[in-house]
Amino acid sequence: TQGLLARAQAHQTLGAFLHLDTDGALAAAAQADARRAAGEAAPLLGLPLAHKDIFVTTQHPTTAGSKILENYRSPFDATVVAKLNAAGTHSLGKLNCDEFAMGSSNENSAYAKAHNPWDSTRVPGGSSGGSAVAVAAGLVPAATGTDTGGSIRQPASFTGITGIKPTYGRCSRYGMIAFASSLDQAGPMARSAEDCALLLSAMSGFDERDATSLQQPPQDFHAQMLQARAGASAAKPLAGLRIGLPKEFFPAQLDADVNERVRAGLAELERLGATLVEVSLPRTELAIPVYYIIAPAEASSNLSRFDGVRYGHRCDDPKDLLDLYKRSRSEGFGPEVQRRILIGSYVLSHGYYDAYYLQAQKLRRMIADDFQQAFTQCDLIAGPVAPTVAWKLGEQGDDPVKAYLADIFTLPGSLAGLPGMSVPVGLGAHGMPVGLQLLGNYFQEGQLLHAAHALQ
Ligand code: GLN
Repeated sequence: TQGLLARAQAHQTLGAFLHLDTDGALAAAAQADARRAAGEAAPLLGLPLAHKDIFVTTQHPTTAGSKILENYRSPFDATVVAKLNAAGTHSLGKLNCDEFAMGSSNENSAYAKAHNPWDSTRVPGGSSGGSAVAVAAGLVPAATGTDTGGSIRQPASFTGITGIKPTYGRCSRYGMIAFASSLDQAGPMARSAEDCALLLSAMSGFDERDATSLQQPPQDFHAQMLQARAGASAAKPLAGLRIGLPKEFFPAQLDADVNERVRAGLAELERLGATLVEVSLPRTELAIPVYYIIAPAEASSNLSRFDGVRYGHRCDDPKDLLDLYKRSRSEGFGPEVQRRILIGSYVLSHGYYDAYYLQAQKLRRMIADDFQQAFTQCDLIAGPVAPTVAWKLGEQGDDPVKAYLADIFTLPGSLAGLPGMSVPVGLGAHGMPVGLQLLGNYFQEGQLLHAAHALQ
């Protein structure tokens, strides 16, 4: 923990941490030592990590990357944080992210730019950009992230690490500051599938405080992964596994270097015994407009609680209650968050609800059905995580739609609620990492992790 803290101090310009808690981390590490000395055998006892600043924590402030929550301190821990603490981990602090997890480059953080450790002029991806930077730069061995439309998978891909977004409902959303509740899901980001399996086992499980929490017995994903490996042939550990390649995930516009690295990863999966089959997810393109209606709609509702009254930023000298709401929110929310609140309020408003929101909901169901159709022909689905490698900071200028379009390969799985991973498959253009996306059917995290582990 001391070594990591020193490293995090030395690499502050990377912008990974929003809050580095030296004293708290050292005290927690000492506590872990005491627990070990007392003979306790928690599975992750003594493991230092850090949390995306979207999880509420009693130990550190929580901002969600937003000015509206500057200096906010939660009276309780998010379930994911509490579970990881119980498993023996301790936290070095809170990690940078896009404001309320809205973004794909971490450039929407109200506090600091995060830089990709592979090339500091490039973004680390987002919204869990700080988590990706911290793991990729070796500031922590693992970090928590959240994925609403790709925010674990895409930054993992951009920084050459491994991340898994489990089946929707696997990890409790209690204490995870809500962006789009029907999509938000927590997951680990780490150096390997094996580390992800250990962390996910500790993070996940039923929680009565989250109405959409899955009523499933606790899972040991690491044991499942090892079991699958033990039962398989050493030379062909993936024999019998059918991997579907949706033709829509390999469009002509896909960057040549990304295509080449992903194809190399697929060839490796084949060498390990998997069979590749072509499948189709015909509504892939529609995932973008569908997501960018549903996610802002839910966000506009979720973010109404930040009213300057109960917590967070309050404007000076409000004239009356309405003025208090208006100015506190205008001052506290950044431009992307305001844009989404406006879009969300619009698509939910009387007269537009049927035309936009309801249509998007119907298409969401069809997108999920397309996956079920594809899974009749394969066990896992593979493709790129993103159409390009990490782009330059500032490159997208003021055009939010550019960033929205880059989410094309991660949004379908999110809308369907499926588990998905990013696994590094080498370096593409400019020496930047490329990730292979693997998607599984509901509850198939064990199978996903087994395939990713074999590939590593
Ligand atoms: N890039 C997507 C967005 O901006 C996804 C973000 C996320 O998964 N939190 O909404």
